[in-house]
Amino acid sequence: MKSRVNGPFVLPVRDIVRKPGEMREHRFQVTLPEKWGEGIVVVEEGETVDLDVRLESVHEGILVSGTADSDYTGVCGRCLTDITAPVEVEFQELFAYPGEEETDFEVQDDHVDLETLVRDAIVLSLPFQPVCQPDCPGLDPNTGEKLTGSAGAESTAPIDPRWSALRQITDQDGEADGRAAEKEES
Ligand SMILES: [Zn+2]
Repeated sequence: MKSRVNGPFVLPVRDIVRKPGEMREHRFQVTLPEKWGEGIVVVEEGETVDLDVRLESVHEGILVSGTADSDYTGVCGRCLTDITAPVEVEFQELFAYPGEEETDFEVQDDHVDLETLVRDAIVLSLPFQPVCQPDCPGLDPNTGEKLTGSAGAESTAPIDPRWSALRQITDQDGEADGRAAEKEES
């Protein structure tokens, strides 16, 4: 792996190296210099990734764990509508001291570079067959037009009758009562 001291995902570890028990937390944001992913949805170049990272000094190296949040964009795999949706991943990996452990990641001098770790976690969690909504009816095989799923109905009508029942409940009770009901159930 190439060492890139100035990469956007590089974090300093100088003050905790070889001090087991020491811990540092970093919250930062990276604007992607290139797109991530090769599928029909990707995290675009220029998209921001929010990171919440914990670095723990352990005997073998630096244990890196945290979460990364971003948005992916692309098209629905069924109807080709443009979609944007959030992606959130958790990651944890040991960055070992050079020569100490067989590992994919190493502490490099006085820093760790999280780019590969975070990119792989996000790319692997992108949906392989993304849809604009769980019950997207897709395209009409004859006309190529987007199916509405409920011929003749107004476009604002929900497709599944169970949703309309749910919506009525929410409308009547309001949000506060809805929360109270949830509490009773649990
Ligand atoms: Zn769709």
